[in-house]
Amino acid sequence: MQQPLYVLAESTQRTSGADARRSNVAAGRAVANAVRTTLGPRGMDKMLVDSSGGVVVTNDGATILKEMDIEHPAAQMLVEVAESQEAEVGDGTTTAAVLAGELLARAEDLLDDDVHATAVVEGYHEALRLALDAVDGMLVGGEVDREALLTVAESAMTGKGTGDIATGVLAGIVVDAVLQVADDDDRRVNRDDIRVFTRTGASAAAAELVRGVVFEEEPANDNMPRSVEEATVAVLDTKLDVRSGEVDTEYTITSVDQLDAALSAEDAERRTIAETLSAAGVDVVFCSKKISDPVAAYLADAGILAFSNVKASEARAFARSTGARRLGTIDDIEASDLGTAASIRVEKHAGDDVTFVEGNDDSRTVTLYVRGSTDHVVDETERAVDDALGVVVAAHEDGEIVPGAGAVEVAIADRLRSGANAVTGRKALAVEAFADAVDAVPRTLAENAGLDPIDALVDLRAHHDSEGVAGIVIDGPSVAITDPRDEHVVDPVAVKREALESATEAATMILRIDDVIAAN
Ligand code: ADP
Ligand code: MG
Repeated sequence: MQQPLYVLAESTQRTSGADARRSNVAAGRAVANAVRTTLGPRGMDKMLVDSSGGVVVTNDGATILKEMDIEHPAAQMLVEVAESQEAEVGDGTTTAAVLAGELLARAEDLLDDDVHATAVVEGYHEALRLALDAVDGMLVGGEVDREALLTVAESAMTGKGTGDIATGVLAGIVVDAVLQVADDDDRRVNRDDIRVFTRTGASAAAAELVRGVVFEEEPANDNMPRSVEEATVAVLDTKLDVRSGEVDTEYTITSVDQLDAALSAEDAERRTIAETLSAAGVDVVFCSKKISDPVAAYLADAGILAFSNVKASEARAFARSTGARRLGTIDDIEASDLGTAASIRVEKHAGDDVTFVEGNDDSRTVTLYVRGSTDHVVDETERAVDDALGVVVAAHEDGEIVPGAGAVEVAIADRLRSGANAVTGRKALAVEAFADAVDAVPRTLAENAGLDPIDALVDLRAHHDSEGVAGIVIDGPSVAITDPRDEHVVDPVAVKREALESATEAATMILRIDDVIAAN
């Protein structure tokens, strides 16, 4: 008799074949379903409560999936789709997740009809190629100028709980921020140059663009000036106090006179620090190390505004926006080490000091100062602004946009259905399945807007056939099947391409799995 052969540890859980596939597909679909109701301007929000009672209210696909604490490995792959979408283009996360979920659902039907997983995967890849072609055919011609970028930003923010007035204001400052820091030649934008600073205590419409940096820092001494115009600034990475440490100095004090002498020597040294900075013409000091209280008092006497123990990231941003060099010592401080700022002022906002450093018109660092009445509003507004920044950067960098509101998806599905004939064998079924999956985007937009999804799809196709472009355009309370370009609903092409690619990749990866071997 043959001995059974144990390859895996006894506690290993193994599911294979149809069971493995079914469980993976179900998990993937569950994730997509969790976010689908948030899609589009009429999407609803989710309230997520974590184990310690923390609450997040959001409409943002990536945030929902991140907060959901998903365990199933296949579901986790869908979460990664949303994350990579967020990282690559900053928006379109819900679209990508919904697409991936639909691709899985449609694939399952085919697999149930005995189409082999390999044929589905190949068919999906073929369909992706056709879909990307169709996307290219939808490009809105003409230059992507400031006006066009504004429409892109507004499309990304509608329905994000920011309110109409705020959306207009926010779109304006997002676009101005991007244009301010974008490279004039190759249009590239370094996202680190755009900072977002948030604070409660005002409505979201009070957001402003600061051509410089905003910090949560307060002056090191109350007697310092709170506002300096045409400031000359120094950024220091050294502690401002009596020198000690390098050599162990030890005083042997035997009389009161000697004590006095020692103390006044230290005092003179502290005063010298303030005098040195003042003589160099410095008005404002940003110090990443500690400024001792006595030194701060001397700096205040000299009329210098100083900040102590600022965060390293803030010191870096401050140096970049003012052109100051970061100094490890003030001994040989020279004019060329110093930077300039048009204005530096400290204001009290929501009970705390906030410091605004504004550069000149060509400042390479900007800050979006985002406000909101409560923490939840501020957080959701910040996520909307983040999405808008992503799309505006993407649209500005490639200079290409496509109509939104499902129009691209309707065109893709149309292209796939007419192109499926050219694909032979069972792969053609997968191409059709891909078309059905892509329909989910306009279908979900319609559903979330309260339309009958089937009627809406029929109308969309008819309008697409006659006019070439058709979307479900939502404008406040009204919904219409029309050309989204006329209503300024547009998306950057990069968002659409990335969503199609990453959704296909995740779905096909999950479909290829026929064995799940889990260590216990
Ligand atoms: P995502 O996370 O995928 O960006 P959103 O909730 O932001 O999800 O919805 C994006 C979709 O909403 C895109 O297809 C976009 O074209 C569409 N959209 C944006 N504004 C409108 C509008 N006014 N009417 C209809 N659809 C819109
Ligand atoms: Mg979006």
